[in-house]
Amino acid sequence: SEVLHLENVAKTYNPGTPAAVTVLDGASLTLAAGEVVALVAPSGAGKSTLLHVAGLLDSPSSGMVRLLGQPVEQASDAARTRLRRDAVGFVYQFHHLLPEFSAVENVALPQRAAGFSRADAAARARELLEAVGLGHRLSHRPAELSGGEQQRVAFARALANRPKLLLADEPTGNLDPETSSRVFEMLLDLVRQTGLAALIATHNPELAARMDRTLRLDQGRISEAA
Ligand code: ADP
Ligand code: ADP
Repeated sequence: SEVLHLENVAKTYNPGTPAAVTVLDGASLTLAAGEVVALVAPSGAGKSTLLHVAGLLDSPSSGMVRLLGQPVEQASDAARTRLRRDAVGFVYQFHHLLPEFSAVENVALPQRAAGFSRADAAARARELLEAVGLGHRLSHRPAELSGGEQQRVAFARALANRPKLLLADEPTGNLDPETSSRVFEMLLDLVRQTGLAALIATHNPELAARMDRTLRLDQGRISEAA
């Protein structure tokens, strides 16, 4: 079943000015539940822009975005924010964890924001941290964790609200190759266990090859890689 559909999406920054840049130009894609898809693009090709549009952080200049069957163009800002919070998990190259908060507090934040009690959010956070092999690091702050551990906390946080769609931008791109490979495997296992649809940007062909298929973004359009 369809989770995300983009049709003929265009995105121009600073439209109508001398600084106008068209980044997306007729981009289309469909992701089904359970599909894990690699997104490969040259640097500057608009990978982050595409992920932001797909995750409702940014609006396209034209074209259609449908998330969980809901066309998002007509939705109010509040409805869009709610849909993003409930349906989408994000992982970035750098973890963006809050430095003053422990691992369990960081992972509990999305559920606290969604209105769950402190106890329920913390229980869910502990369960997720155990799933990423960090049951012994619950009270550690980000600075007290290794790079690979920090990214695993970020994965746990991304999954806290049981999203239907995971969007990841070079999720292991700042780790050494061996850690990257190991941590990436863990992310794939988690995604496959939960039946999420995932769109994962990577420059690494070896990581792309572990996913179900590869989409290429070039000159504003998306094509299926052979
Ligand atoms: P990638 O993630 O593939 O490197 P981005 O989506 O970050 O690409 O950026 C694609 C192009 O869009 C770049 O030329 C970038 O400078 C431009 N761009 C990105 N964000 C903005 C913005 N907020 N305003 C103007 N231009 C932007
Ligand atoms: P910057 O925009 O300077 O990179 P931010 O801390 O504002 O720093 O954002 C860090 C990243 O988080 C960016 O890629 C941004 O697009 C993304 N981001 C911003 N707001 C949200 C949000 N509500 N949910 C998920 N990601 C977000």
